Amino acid sequence: MQQVSICRFCGKTIDTQFLYCPWCGELLHESAHLAEIVNRVFNTVEEKETGKRIEKIGQSLDILEKEITSVIHTMESKK
Ligand SMILES: [Zn+2]
Repeated sequence: MQQVSICRFCGKTIDTQFLYCPWCGELLHESAHLAEIVNRVFNTVEEKETGKRIEKIGQSLDILEKEITSVIHTMESKK
């Protein structure tokens, strides 16, 4: 079953795995969607690497997620 969502900019149906809307080109991800992407990347890394390196990567992703979320909030507050 394919996961789809609605673009909040142009309202068209798009695959949830897309980072950018193929119709209007806007950046799509919201914090929940972003967490899913981070988890997917993390799971891929986890298959190849082990140990403390993964912990460090996970912590970096947590920081990155918070930074991106705050950027998104800043962008939204300017509209
Ligand atoms: Zn769109």
